[in-house]
Amino acid sequence: MSSALKTSPALTARALLSVPEVARALSFFETNAAAITDEQIRICSIPGPAFGERARAEYLAEKFSALGLTEVEIDEEGNCLGLLEGTSRAPLLVVSAHLDTVFSADTDFTVVRSGERLLAPGIADDGCGLVALIALARAMQTERICPEGSILFVGTVGEEGEGNLRGVRHLLTRGRWASKVEAFLSFDGPGVDRITNRALGSRRYRVEITGPGGHSWGDFGLPNPVHALARAVAKLAGYPLPREPRTTFNVGRIEGGTSINSIPEKAAMDVDLRSGADVELQRLDSFFRRAVKQAADEENAGRRPGDPLLAVKVDLIGERPSGETPADSPLVELALEATKIVGIEPRLDQSSTDSNLPISLGIPAITLGAGGTSGSSHTLAEWFDPTDRAVGLKRALLVVLGIVGLQA
Ligand SMILES: [Zn+2]
Repeated sequence: MSSALKTSPALTARALLSVPEVARALSFFETNAAAITDEQIRICSIPGPAFGERARAEYLAEKFSALGLTEVEIDEEGNCLGLLEGTSRAPLLVVSAHLDTVFSADTDFTVVRSGERLLAPGIADDGCGLVALIALARAMQTERICPEGSILFVGTVGEEGEGNLRGVRHLLTRGRWASKVEAFLSFDGPGVDRITNRALGSRRYRVEITGPGGHSWGDFGLPNPVHALARAVAKLAGYPLPREPRTTFNVGRIEGGTSINSIPEKAAMDVDLRSGADVELQRLDSFFRRAVKQAADEENAGRRPGDPLLAVKVDLIGERPSGETPADSPLVELALEATKIVGIEPRLDQSSTDSNLPISLGIPAITLGAGGTSGSSHTLAEWFDPTDRAVGLKRALLVVLGIVGLQA
């Protein structure tokens, strides 16, 4: 990347501390802590169900415009974009957080305060990331920080579950900024030590097995979709997993049949396969698809002469590429140094986030926690505690300015 890094990442981050407007922007996060939390409450009170991010995107667009960002828009996929233009458009750094949650449209997104804690579905994942975008832009505008490169702030859609990274995929492969992005930083959830530089790959399937169905006694011998599905699950459960890299599978949902004394006409399951390495993911993937085929063949083999065969449909419903931004790349080194500067021991980590996509495209990308602490993630009892959030935001600002640089 044509990074503005003129010296080593470590020196760059340290040098930033002696720039007066940067020092003021760093303390902005402390003096404005209450306002940042109020903003987080406003964003998270707007429903953000999976595939229903529009209202949040519109709110964020309003904020981006009010902050003086330019080229503010909601793109064709539903992402909300705003540009903080530097002297040059290169390097162009994307700073993002995701608008969606794992919750359905009928969820109550009301935020409740309980002592220091804020309670609401999605309040941390990714409410604290979304408010970090606003806090960073506001600190930079208030303290008149003039970057050399430009920053494209983005609230993405479809990060969670079956969203399958559709927002970031559009942004980086089809959107009008696609070929211009040189580095990517996303905030996902709380924390100050985590630097996710390795992308956890996954493949997700929906399997549907259908057959003629019939009476449990009268038609016994007909191939049974539930039995076939169970055979497939049993084979998958026996998969010889490698010790390293970490590789996992999960049959997360299973359904089928209508009554205890009917041979079902249909059975279905949703399966999640993950691995830290592509080669292991591919191995698990082929085993799984073979297992489903063998399971159906075995069930079909026992059918009576003339009975119809079971039909098997295996749909890939999600795919996240794996890969990594090397630990010695400027972006990761900068994040390591910025974490140490704010007094925290950094920790490199592997996870499945919006950064998976840029990493797979060869764009240096990391995901950081946006400060604060949280618990009960992905449940209705999710909470966030903003205490010391400023530490996370300071680290974030140092990373952002280290990449785009300051106007000479
Ligand atoms: Zn998230």
